[in-house]
Amino acid sequence: MIETWDVVVVGGGPAGSAAALRVKQLRPEARVLLVDKADFPRDKACGDGIAAHGREELDLLGLPGVIDDYRPARRLSVVSPGGARVLATVARPNHVVPRKVFDARLVEAARARGVEVRRGRVRELTAQADHVLLDGRVAARTVVGADGANSVVRRLAGLPPTPDRHTAIAVRGYADVPADDDVQFIAMQKDGWPAYAWSFPIGDGTANVGFGMTLPRLHATGRPGREVLHGRLAELLPDLPARDLRAHHLPMSPGRPVPGAGRVLLAGDAASLINPLTGEGIYYALLSGRLAGEAAVEAAGAPLAAYRRKLRRALGRHLRTTDMLSRAAQSPGFIDAAIGTAARRREVFDLMVDVGLGAGTVPAPLAAAIARRWLWNALRRA
Ligand SMILES: Cc1cc2nc3c(=O)[nH]c(=O)nc-3n(C[C@H](O)[C@H](O)[C@H](O)COP(=O)(O)OP(=O)(O)OC[C@H]3O[C@@H](n4cnc5c(N)ncnc54)[C@H](O)[C@@H]3O)c2cc1C
Repeated sequence: MIETWDVVVVGGGPAGSAAALRVKQLRPEARVLLVDKADFPRDKACGDGIAAHGREELDLLGLPGVIDDYRPARRLSVVSPGGARVLATVARPNHVVPRKVFDARLVEAARARGVEVRRGRVRELTAQADHVLLDGRVAARTVVGADGANSVVRRLAGLPPTPDRHTAIAVRGYADVPADDDVQFIAMQKDGWPAYAWSFPIGDGTANVGFGMTLPRLHATGRPGREVLHGRLAELLPDLPARDLRAHHLPMSPGRPVPGAGRVLLAGDAASLINPLTGEGIYYALLSGRLAGEAAVEAAGAPLAAYRRKLRRALGRHLRTTDMLSRAAQSPGFIDAAIGTAARRREVFDLMVDVGLGAGTVPAPLAAAIARRWLWNALRRA
């Protein structure tokens, strides 16, 4: 017996839940199945930082207030590789919500909206003329592959994995902090750059702490990954001994593939939608999941073309900006110049937050100001 669904979503992280929620929001009678290999609540290695931009996506999905019981994080402190510092209040607050809680809330909201949620691991996809067959048992007019960084759906759809040079790896843990610690802290590292450690207080006397670097830099150390990541975290945040350490890959957007094939759409990490400057992926996951859901409803006959158009409209210029900035950011001096400028000019700080955590772009005069500072710093050093 083959079951038929309008949309099958593989993966119940933010991308998958957003896709399922959007389909039901636009077409309540649609038959939507969400399959995840894990039962919820489940943990996910992440910094748990949800940017204000991600919160706006939750509003669009009809879930305002879903994280309002968590304390808003208004202050952000960043230290650049060369020691330039900025500490400022962000224009719109971020939130830190453990993924065990956040993802389970989204899955539960999807279930409440009529999405069928099942535990299962997808292993096989067969494209047919007007549907896709999953594991020989389930047929879908559209499949949304939202199965994360090591996406099986992406591989089965014939799309290549993210190249190592555009992949990062990060470890996160939890540490005790004073309950009134409310500064999100990021310490960038010259040694092994691009690399940084973070501490994101949750508001309950604990903080999510972690350390991440790119795969080529990790391989260049010639040492086991676990030893390097755990060691660097302990070294960089010596006063915050971390428990529950867990690591995962981050496929970054400069290595993104075509976001699907035929009736298969890729969203979130499965589409390599992680910001190469910050490692932020939850906002992109919610946004791309929502757009995949919209394409599945509005263009059921040819969802990929519609999805690509929507993604391009929402993120095209931004992704071209971050592609370019991530190349410039290979030089720690560029980041020093950007943070140095942000420390002096409020509008630059706001823009950096928008580019790093949202869909912001950089106006040419500002790019020129940072380039001037970069050059000036280089000349002074010379
Ligand atoms: C250490 C670390 C820190 C990070 N910090 C931040 C941060 O602070 N803020 C931020 O915005 N981003 C952060 N990110 C990135 C963020 O975690 C991801 O971008 C985000 O989780 C992407 O969501 P997703 O829904 O695409 O995938 P995921 O959240 O990975 O969900 C994928 C789901 O698919 C399921 N699945 C996998 N394979 C199958 C299969 N074959 N069949 C069925 N189900 C399957 C999994 O069980 C999982 O539930 C961090 C990443 C790491 C590794």
